[in-house]
Amino acid sequence: MSEPMAILTDVTRCTGCEKCVDACKVEYELGDDRPWRGQGAIDDLSASRFTTIVNKPGNHHVRQQCRHCLEPACASACIVGALQKTPEGPVIYDAKKCMGCRYCLMACPFDIPRYDWDRAVPYVRKCTMCYDRLKEGGIPACVEACPEEATIFGTRAEMLALAKQRLSDNPDLYVQQVYGEHEVGGTSVLMIASIPLGFLAWKDNLGNQPLPDLTWASLKKVPGIALGVGGLMTGVYWIVGRRMKLAAESAEACNTIEPTDPADNQQQESESNHDQ
Ligand code: SF4
Ligand code: SF4
Ligand code: SF4
Repeated sequence: MSEPMAILTDVTRCTGCEKCVDACKVEYELGDDRPWRGQGAIDDLSASRFTTIVNKPGNHHVRQQCRHCLEPACASACIVGALQKTPEGPVIYDAKKCMGCRYCLMACPFDIPRYDWDRAVPYVRKCTMCYDRLKEGGIPACVEACPEEATIFGTRAEMLALAKQRLSDNPDLYVQQVYGEHEVGGTSVLMIASIPLGFLAWKDNLGNQPLPDLTWASLKKVPGIALGVGGLMTGVYWIVGRRMKLAAESAEACNTIEPTDPADNQQQESESNHDQ
């Protein structure tokens, strides 16, 4: 694969079946929806939902996912290089490098990355454009699953040309804008629709300037003390969350396990304390 690739979603063709959502969940073993703290609606993205369908009045079903910016602010904000833009297009994530600072969540102009609070270690979750599939010559699982071809995959140049063709073939149907062509320097997810997509953070004031330079300009102004407190709070949150989880599991186990020899109970308690 030599050329940068892109996903084009044509909102006018989406029926809202959520086959793309299901395919993504299977591909990444995301399981049942686990709402995240701060989640306003079930159709929001979460650590267990990398893509979702936002249903709007008038039978409009709008797909939400990472836009895989050509110059991603998230990667720019990540001081350990856990987020990287690949030449093929996807913005990928390496959990082994992540320290959990969550600057990427603040930097993303589209409010995409989610933090997995159920993990004991830092874990940011978002669409990866199925990078592993792409490396094997495949296409994203969501694209493969869409029965309406409402979301398709190809080189960015092809997808852009096709989107513009559809806009010019049906000027009365489409808002005359290929979302992602220019915004924040361009993205590898393009969208066309018959309604304005400002509610998906394709804000009118987003601008066409790449954000990484602005990201660092802002972060550099954050006092070191603020960074330290942020890291400390993250650590405290994990420890408290982990202890609560272990306590809940322990209580559940006590309710289901038959009484045993007191000596065994003493041994289990000692092991549990060691885990914490
Ligand atoms: S949409 Fe957000 S998370 Fe995705 S590449 Fe762009 S800045 Fe990063
Ligand atoms: S949370 Fe992880 S991926 Fe995000 S900016 Fe911090 S280190 Fe990078
Ligand atoms: S490209 Fe892959 S990771 Fe992204 S929404 Fe589609 S199936 Fe999920």
